[in-house]
Amino acid sequence: MEKPTIIWKGSPNFSSPKGYKILAIVDHIMSGTLAGTDSWFANPASKVSSHFGVGKNGEIHQYVNLENPAWANGGVNNPSWTLLIPGVNPNYYTASIEHEGNSWDVMPEAQYQATLALHRWLIETLSIPVTRDNIIGHYRIDSINKANCPGTGFPWERLFDDLQGGNDVLNVAVLLFTKDDYWAGTDVAGKNGNCAIFVRSSDHSVPAEAMSAKQLIVVGGPTTKHPNEVLLSGNDKYATAAAVAKYLG
Ligand SMILES: [Zn+2]
Repeated sequence: MEKPTIIWKGSPNFSSPKGYKILAIVDHIMSGTLAGTDSWFANPASKVSSHFGVGKNGEIHQYVNLENPAWANGGVNNPSWTLLIPGVNPNYYTASIEHEGNSWDVMPEAQYQATLALHRWLIETLSIPVTRDNIIGHYRIDSINKANCPGTGFPWERLFDDLQGGNDVLNVAVLLFTKDDYWAGTDVAGKNGNCAIFVRSSDHSVPAEAMSAKQLIVVGGPTTKHPNEVLLSGNDKYATAAAVAKYLG
């Protein structure tokens, strides 16, 4: 397993080693930028940190050595995590990864690939089993104050599929109503790591390969009834353009 490229940033906010084995990876959302997190974690007054931060551009920053507990998951509030050790600070037996962005963001492909590589490396170096109790969201530890960490945008299904071996299924595809939607389509595909683009046939049927993608982003035209569809369609091309613009943010 190749170690991903990690840029050391450092933070004064960590504990001395407590002698616990790291049992789990805890995923977080920054609700902000990577640069903002770098400076917040560098500030002793913030009293918070994580081991890693992953930017939307795929950059991985490290703030705390894995031998030291970071200050990311201290508060336990109505937890739903079965491996929680009663009476022990969860920071002592977890590795934490922050992700740039907000909890409703669609994770860019570069960020996804970086966090996937980081998860794979941590799983191997720390011997962490790939289960829903060993790779968790912060909300499993604090379901009251951290209910949206990492939030609805976090790609749990895709991450577990890839960590459990992965396959050749297309993860994201963009479906255009006509070729006229091409430029809107390239912007949408670019936001998803330049994923595959399909155009509906002249009878407006949907290519089978597009339907087999894990997520299908539809630019213009009616619903495809794909189980994981993002429908960016209005009643006319102007409304569709507005829906695309809103999606692209
Ligand atoms: Zn969090």
